[in-house]
Amino acid sequence: MKKCPVCKQGNLEQTKNIILEIGGYVFIAKGHRCSKCGEEFPYEKETQDFIETARKMGVWPEPLKLYRHLSRSGKGLVFRIPTDLEKQLHLTDNTEIAITKLGNKIIIEPESVSEHKNI
Ligand SMILES: [Zn+2]
Repeated sequence: MKKCPVCKQGNLEQTKNIILEIGGYVFIAKGHRCSKCGEEFPYEKETQDFIETARKMGVWPEPLKLYRHLSRSGKGLVFRIPTDLEKQLHLTDNTEIAITKLGNKIIIEPESVSEHKNI
């Protein structure tokens, strides 16, 4: 068994559940995990596949993580969409959005006009 290159003490054990976050999307990769320090080493091939997938979905290589503060308006909290995202995603003040809570994350998805036509 291979030794961990980080702590040089643990053994690298095969694992199927390394969590990779690429452009805000979460992928589960196969690879090795150190039995001592817990450092994870996803297989190169897997990582490449995920980056490829992320590219196809249009989330790579553009950085998607933005930091914003919420502001308060009346009783509610308001999240302002950054102007660059507004332009990229063609958002207007009529755009309907779907809000999904995923663990401690909030996913905001604009509903595209073409999707509505199909309903
Ligand atoms: Zn280690």
